[in-house]
Amino acid sequence: MNVPTPGSHLTASAGSRNEQTRRHNLSTLLTLVHHHGALSRAELTKLTGLNRSTIGALNTELASAGLVFESAAQESGTVGRPSPMVNPSADIVALAINPDIDAIEVGAVGLGGEVLSRARRATASVPTPSEALEIALELIEDVRSQLASGTTIVGVGVAVPGLVEADSGTVTRAPHLGWEDVAWGEQLSDALGLPVQVGNDAAVAVVAVAVFGAGQGAANLMYLNGSASGIGGGVIAGGTRLVGANGFAGELGHTLVNSEGDACYCGRKGCLETEVNLNRLHAAAEASGIAAADAVAQLAATSSGPFAAEVDREADVLAHGIANLISVFNPEAVVLGGFLGDLYGARQERIRTGVLADAFAPLGDNVRIERAQLGDELLLVGAAELAFGPLLHDPSGWKAKS
Ligand SMILES: [Zn+2]
Repeated sequence: MNVPTPGSHLTASAGSRNEQTRRHNLSTLLTLVHHHGALSRAELTKLTGLNRSTIGALNTELASAGLVFESAAQESGTVGRPSPMVNPSADIVALAINPDIDAIEVGAVGLGGEVLSRARRATASVPTPSEALEIALELIEDVRSQLASGTTIVGVGVAVPGLVEADSGTVTRAPHLGWEDVAWGEQLSDALGLPVQVGNDAAVAVVAVAVFGAGQGAANLMYLNGSASGIGGGVIAGGTRLVGANGFAGELGHTLVNSEGDACYCGRKGCLETEVNLNRLHAAAEASGIAAADAVAQLAATSSGPFAAEVDREADVLAHGIANLISVFNPEAVVLGGFLGDLYGARQERIRTGVLADAFAPLGDNVRIERAQLGDELLLVGAAELAFGPLLHDPSGWKAKS
């Protein structure tokens, strides 16, 4: 009988533990550098709690795989040897795609989160899945041709305005696009020969906000985005995106704020997105002699008349809605994107005061309210993050493949 001796057994399991630890540390280091940008070895030592020689060895391994590179130390002014900087390699690229109702957009995002190239094509009508696929493939050719030689593409991330089955990349239901049960991820992967990850656009955006945007550093945050199609968003709780039992958590636009309010397409009335609503702003602007197209730019410009009254009303309802959500999620930061960011820019004091008055004290007292950053790059950066996921999770696996 071949019974392993206690010694050999212990050695083997100690070896696998070391291997697990090494993988975990490589993942931690690469993720830090990707999300923060260049960090000195000394900062990495401090952030990870690992010793200098371990950081040195991990860096060497990541650099030999082409994932990071070291550059000269920055003058820190502190005592001790200057510490070399560890930079994410922008030659490692994820492709990002956002098929939407009026356009397809494609971007190439480097490790570190910078959008390196992008291409967009407007469509005359809402694209069918096969039209969107065809356009996306053409735009990818265009975007790839703009990248430096020596670039390596790790995969593709897709942000879709609809419900997505994450494992298969199937778009289960995208009402605005009219897509139902479309295996878009699989079709794209077959056409490109690259791994493809598909996610819901609001979910993708909240991750980008938390990692690269105005929510950076907050382990608990709420993101609300307002667009012509309503209010979407998401919640990060304890550093993790809230997903829910079926993956649909974060429908923040369908929280009830006015029981006497307008009918919502979800079947109820007085939802946040029917009460704080771009179309209603447009209508009020026109009633004040302002073109609908200029409404958002003019939010702060008028102080009387139907438009100013509607801006005040929407600001108050938004504050009320935020206060409700603060009581549920107790976030450190609330980030407002799209026209909600503009509304906040125009009525900052009114909204802050309203949140403080309405929130269950003291939950509202220390909440940061911020406008979203990254502008129209937000979805591309977030979709790319889906594609970077497997690499960040296990950089040593990446080295084995390349
Ligand atoms: Zn609703």
